[in-house]
Amino acid sequence: MESILVLAHTEADGSLAKPALEALATALALGGPVTVGLVGAAVDAAAIGGCGAGRFLAVTGEAFAQPRYSTDAAAAEALCRASGAAIVIAPQTSRWARALSGVALRLGGRVDTHATAVGAQNGVPAVTRWFYRQRMEGTLTRSQRPWIVLLDAGVVEPWRGAPAPLDVETIAVAVPPTRTTVLGVEATQAGGQTIRPDAKLLFVAGAGWTKKQGDGAVHGVEAEALILGFLGASQASLGGSKSLVDLSGEGQPVLGFMTHLNQIGQTGSTPRHPKGLSTCCHGEEPHAVGWRFIAERRAINLDPNCGWARGKADVLYLADAFAVVRELNRLLA
Ligand SMILES: Cc1cc2nc3c(=O)[nH]c(=O)nc-3n(C[C@H](O)[C@H](O)[C@H](O)COP(=O)(O)OP(=O)(O)OC[C@H]3O[C@@H](n4cnc5c(N)ncnc54)[C@H](O)[C@@H]3O)c2cc1C
Repeated sequence: MESILVLAHTEADGSLAKPALEALATALALGGPVTVGLVGAAVDAAAIGGCGAGRFLAVTGEAFAQPRYSTDAAAAEALCRASGAAIVIAPQTSRWARALSGVALRLGGRVDTHATAVGAQNGVPAVTRWFYRQRMEGTLTRSQRPWIVLLDAGVVEPWRGAPAPLDVETIAVAVPPTRTTVLGVEATQAGGQTIRPDAKLLFVAGAGWTKKQGDGAVHGVEAEALILGFLGASQASLGGSKSLVDLSGEGQPVLGFMTHLNQIGQTGSTPRHPKGLSTCCHGEEPHAVGWRFIAERRAINLDPNCGWARGKADVLYLADAFAVVRELNRLLA
């Protein structure tokens, strides 16, 4: 196997987040010589000295703490050159996704994004990813080097091992001129954070929550309280159907915490969770295709002919979602 570089940026405390440890595990499993390249204000807390990598390189300093194209690209380029690695594996974070295509160009290499596996085909590195909105899976090899691969989060078990200090070689990088200063992070939601990629459960709300119910009235206020109550108690991640997030986007006073970032489906996201519970959502194909990576699917719908009933859910509860979630919240409390 060719030489491999794992590129990771550290968190504010110098540690590595789960996606970085997943990239590390993927690289170590390939069997070639592995170098780890770290970028951040500090790297000591990464504590992966015992992982089995041959070298640890780092670009550190305050200028490299903030996610910013110019400094991230300079640091990554220097680490790639110093390692001389043929294959570069990095987690698909927004920070690396922004910087690493430019780095590939500077190095005369190639980049592939949203990889779901890196393995070997006849001894040659091969990358697996999905195409056409997650409908087809393909495996590809490339002759160009370095080959930078951004690995999607949640597709492998992260590296776990006893914390051990790093023996780091510091790579000096001249800080390039910068125009961007990160002032802080502003949450996209008005309320609390509802998108939790690491949650065990994906809870999907559909447009039914905003429709007239059996008594002929709309119960938007209760729907909002029930959904937020369930999310608070279960720590599930919140997804929505397109119909529902479009309603919220039009500023209607319905489920104000729902944005287009919550949308699951063909034109939305395809998250990975062990379980999913769909409520008041019809389960049409353009929505259900976003459930591709949900291992166990359950749905609550009043309609026995809804899309979930036609083979898209493992279990369909023919029930009023208001009543079910009200009872769930009572039990969870
Ligand atoms: C090109 C294209 C791309 C698309 N991309 C996406 C996408 O990415 N994501 C997406 O979601 N959609 C997408 N759509 C839209 C999709 O086809 C559906 O229109 C949409 O998913 C319907 O949303 P819904 O099921 O929430 O609403 P509805 O179809 O209105 O269904 C509401 C459901 O709620 C149920 N219900 C009502 N009250 C209750 C209750 N008290 N208890 C239980 N159930 C109840 C009803 O029985 C009904 O089944 C796309 C469409 C196209 C053409």
